[in-house]
Parts: sequence; structure tokens; C-alpha cells
Amino acid sequence: FNIVDAQYVASAVKFDQYPEGELTEIAFIGRSNVGKSSLINSLCRRHGLARISSTPGKTQTLNFYRLSAKTGDFRHDFFLVDLPGYGYARTGRSARQEWSKFIQEYWLKSTRLVLVCQLIDIRHPPMASDVKVYEWLTTHNLPVQVVATKADKIAKGRIKSHLEIIRKEIKLTAAANPIIAFSAENGQGRAEILDVIRNILLK
Ligand code: GDP
Repeated sequence: FNIVDAQYVASAVKFDQYPEGELTEIAFIGRSNVGKSSLINSLCRRHGLARISSTPGKTQTLNFYRLSAKTGDFRHDFFLVDLPGYGYARTGRSARQEWSKFIQEYWLKSTRLVLVCQLIDIRHPPMASDVKVYEWLTTHNLPVQVVATKADKIAKGRIKSHLEIIRKEIKLTAAANPIIAFSAENGQGRAEILDVIRNILLK
């Protein structure tokens, strides 16, 4: 199973700008600078598909990419939706409120969303905003896959205990998939994320 094609389709700030069609959507969210663009580029094996931001917190649009996944004879197109980062220290209260309105509109209006990948930095305990967003998503019955990013930045032997801290702090639901440790540097966890996507698409 792999991504064989990835194209940028559209950016949107509101519902009527979402691309048309019946394609399944998989969304990616996380705090600004968590490594979301790097993860998207790694999944698609396309350098520069999603912009690696030098000014975190700037991208306040939903970005839609059309991806083609292939396994054997089976080819499945879907939208990868890159949501704006949350919790950037320098965005004030109004920007945060705007973020949540934005995301709520997306969640309420998108009937095609099947999975949200929430990215959390593996190095530190989750921030309050990470916990809040996870809680918000799960109370709205969204299937969430938590991905712990930048796994290459901590010693291999400590990955397990860091994942455990994240699991406890966000109160990972009993039915949830285990958290995946990911690194855009060395590709760790890439196959696992693709596997989760594959299982969702084949359902
Ligand atoms: P975004 O704001 O969430 O889209 O984050 P970016 O993908 O732009 O990454 C933010 C910074 O973290 C950049 O300097 C990246 O090079 C770095 N980064 C992202 N992922 C990784 C990773 O897996 N390992 C390491 N060592 N650095 C990473």
C-alpha cells in the first residue's frame, strides 16, 4: 500500500470553497511547528507538497490535496485535508477562537471526513491545547489517530515512556488505536500511518 499520486487541489477558509465531489477525507491537525507539513510530505514522498513553514501560525486555511493510494489492483482516491495549526504562542485569544470556529465549521459541514490524525510532539508532555483538541474531537465522535512526531529527537529507549505520558495526559479512549511514533527524518512510523489509512479506505 502506498501513495502513488498527490496533487494540491484547493485552499479554503469557508464551506463554499471546499472542493466538490464525493471523496473520502482524512484530516491532519496539530500545534503549529509540530511537524505536520513534514509528515504530509513524507507520506506522499513529495518534497515541498505541503509547505514547511518558517513562520508558524501563519497558515490559516484548510488545504486540500487529492491523493491516490494503491494496493494491488485496488486504487483509491481521497482528500488529505491539512488543517491550520493551533496553539501557537503568539496568536492571541481571538485567533484561537477563530481557529475553533473554523474547525467546527469544517467538522459540522464535512460529511466525508473519516479520520483525523492529531499530531503531538513526542518530546514534551502534551500542551493544554493538545488535550483540549483531542477531547473536542472525541466528544464529537470523530475517529482520531494520534501521532507523536519528531521521534528521532529522543533516544530510542525512551519512546515508549513518552508515548505513555501522552496517552495518559490526553486520556486516550479505550477503543482508540495506539499512538504511533513518527519521524520525518528517518521514516519511522510511516508504514504504520499508511496502514491505518489503508484500513479506513478499505472499510
Ligand atoms: P508544521 O508547522 O506543523 O507544518 O511543522 P513543519 O513540518 O514545518 O516542521 C517544523 C520544524 O520541525 C521544521 O524545522 C522541521 O524541519 C522540523 N521537523 C519536522 N518533523 C521533524 C522530524 O520528524 N524530525 C526532526 N528532527 N525535525 C522535524
